[in-house]
Amino acid sequence: MKKTSTRLADGRELVYYDARDDVVRDAVDRRPLDPISTTSEIRRDPLLGDSVAIASHRQGRTYHPPADECPLCPSRDGRRSEIPDEDYDVVVFENRFPSLAGDAGRCEVVCFTSDHDASFADLTEDRAALVLEAWTDRTAELAEVPGVRQVFCFENRGAEIGVTLGHPHGQIYAYPFTTPRTALMQRSAAAHRSATGRNLFDDVVGRERAEAERVVLETGEWVAFVPYAAHWPYEVHLYPKRRVPDLRALDDAARTEFPRVYLELLRRFDRIFDAPAGVPGGPEQEGRGESPTPYIAAWHQAPFGDPERDEFALHLELFTIRRTSGKLKFLAGSESGMSVFINDVPPEAAARRLREVATK
Ligand SMILES: [Zn+2]
Repeated sequence: MKKTSTRLADGRELVYYDARDDVVRDAVDRRPLDPISTTSEIRRDPLLGDSVAIASHRQGRTYHPPADECPLCPSRDGRRSEIPDEDYDVVVFENRFPSLAGDAGRCEVVCFTSDHDASFADLTEDRAALVLEAWTDRTAELAEVPGVRQVFCFENRGAEIGVTLGHPHGQIYAYPFTTPRTALMQRSAAAHRSATGRNLFDDVVGRERAEAERVVLETGEWVAFVPYAAHWPYEVHLYPKRRVPDLRALDDAARTEFPRVYLELLRRFDRIFDAPAGVPGGPEQEGRGESPTPYIAAWHQAPFGDPERDEFALHLELFTIRRTSGKLKFLAGSESGMSVFINDVPPEAAARRLREVATK
């Protein structure tokens, strides 16, 4: 892997991650960009004790541009984009419209491929391995940035999730605080440790593997299951079998196996809502091509500088907001008002479906 760091015309950092060591990335961004002015601010809710990023500058951001104006395609044929070179493997750069900026953190964009029409599930295993290297490197780099407490690598896929750019990409948020969900998990883990002397994540994974009913796939190094109390219609948690606090601590065996496991999960997600051949009302019979399954893929990592960080278990949470063909799960009254999720798909049924659609 070769890493080349450069600056965009407005001073933002951009890093190429190339599979080949002999690639030269020396293209210069010559766009007449104004310096970025960002005004994000973290406000703490005194009742809930959580934090809200107020980012009013985001109102002007690029919204569903035509494919020939995609800012994530390489700069080609006289058209200049966010990526100065005419091709790339994987590239990471600071977001021009960040939700978090300055003392309030940092937001980066990760382009998984220069192919505008691909999706993560279309990537080769080698490319997925390069993305994992990029996520790991960003985690290591951002851990060294003063004030950064936690790094969150994630992908939103699909217009239904609110994705405004069709080009396959993910994001990385570096927060200046421990996020509320991570803090909750840490509190649960601490309580479990004092009550039982055991690690909570080990016990959760152990229970799922023992019960097996909700396990979606298991390999030598990884296990994926629908959790006992899944919040979303189709939700999978993927853990390395050897518990580590973050991506930096994954061993070579887990890294080597990850691309095959993750690509298989994503491809199964794309098949969940395919009607079996010959079923009346299936998408193909009504002649409406349904969009690919919308999903969120979220890496949970331990916060930095926390004495309890080794109690935390790195894992990836993958879920869709689609509950059945053509229908989305909305966060309505109970979920949005009271944080009580109502899930119409029993986790055992979701796991069965995710095993049925395995690659043959
Ligand atoms: Zn594009």
